[in-house]
Amino acid sequence: GSTIGIIGGGQLGRMSAVAASRLGYHVHILSASTPAPAAETAAKLTVGSYDDPAVLEAFARECDVITFEFENISAAGLRQLEALRPVHPAGRILEISQDRIAEKTTLSAMGLPVASWRSVQNEDDLATLKDFGFPLILKTTRFGYDGKGQFRVSDETAFQQLWNDRQNLPYPLVAEKKIDFARELSVMVARNHHGDIRCFDPSENRHRDGILRMSMVPAPVAPETIDEAQRIASCLAKDIGLVGILGVELFQNADGQLIINEIAPRPHNSGHWTQNACIIDQFEMHIRAVAGLPLPSTRRHSDGFMHNLIGPDDMALVPAMMEEDNAALHLYGKAEARPGRKMGHINRIFPRGGLPGEHALAQLQPVHPQE
Ligand code: ATP
Ligand code: MG
Ligand code: MG
Repeated sequence: GSTIGIIGGGQLGRMSAVAASRLGYHVHILSASTPAPAAETAAKLTVGSYDDPAVLEAFARECDVITFEFENISAAGLRQLEALRPVHPAGRILEISQDRIAEKTTLSAMGLPVASWRSVQNEDDLATLKDFGFPLILKTTRFGYDGKGQFRVSDETAFQQLWNDRQNLPYPLVAEKKIDFARELSVMVARNHHGDIRCFDPSENRHRDGILRMSMVPAPVAPETIDEAQRIASCLAKDIGLVGILGVELFQNADGQLIINEIAPRPHNSGHWTQNACIIDQFEMHIRAVAGLPLPSTRRHSDGFMHNLIGPDDMALVPAMMEEDNAALHLYGKAEARPGRKMGHINRIFPRGGLPGEHALAQLQPVHPQE
């Protein structure tokens, strides 16, 4: 059989490797650190730096096609890999998603909706934010995840505080208008080299402390909103030349309009519900697209409610969750439950039309004794 190489040893790599091995592929994982959640699900694990050309070369030579779950592979590393083997999604797409300014510029050029933003390269740019208006959010352009590297500037007073500290800010930054969103949605879109495109249903996502807490499907929105979210994702996949899967994070504002927050050219936490509510989940769809296989229907046979298990508190809920019916527990095998660390998730599955309402969902959320 042929070998699929996955760069990154986290839970997304782990679940992608399971999907790939179920389709008969050998999986070779490259992970910069151990223990790697993906290690046990791969036929082969290489531990080595993503920035070491010798490591990348040896890895690429053992693979037939390469994909990634880790987003911060350097441009030089991507060029090197692409010179040796097909890399899907393309390095060019990963580079766009690595840099919020490149991302917003690209999306706008495609005519896709993004929140109004400004590049903040230095103190002079920072000074102009007064006319841009408050509230706004400043984000590092690179390496941010789970809301890290963000500064919320609610008003003039908050801005003044930031201004006093202007020399210590991690430039370059991007300033975004704070969107007063009604809800957050996301869509997973897959495209193969034939140009076939498949979108999963959009989920509604809720965050806590910048970390995804839960996703639910169907999202409580009008059918036209579902169509619009999928239209945006499909246009993006086509225009960017996607091969693989990509997550599109969206805000729905008070008027019902959709705005793209950011994109991630890989399986996405908000798509985990597909594992138990669809026959072909996001991980298999991703592997199929990367491997040049057909992309079957994304139809959902069930409604789903995904809840992340975040360290350390949520791990206390696992024994009770093990007893639940119609709930699939996915644990990532991480030994250390550090605060804020994603340890696993639970997919609670309901017959179509049977997703409980807002009040009943609240009952299903992990509640900790101290809360
Ligand atoms: P991740 O990659 O883990 O999704 P991130 O660190 O890249 O997170 P964002 O997705 O940009 O960060 O932001 C995290 C969350 O902060 C969003 O899901 C949303 O809840 C909130 N947020 C971000 N940007 C805005 C905005 N412009 N207006 C309102 N809320 C925002
Ligand atoms: Mg992000
Ligand atoms: Mg995000």
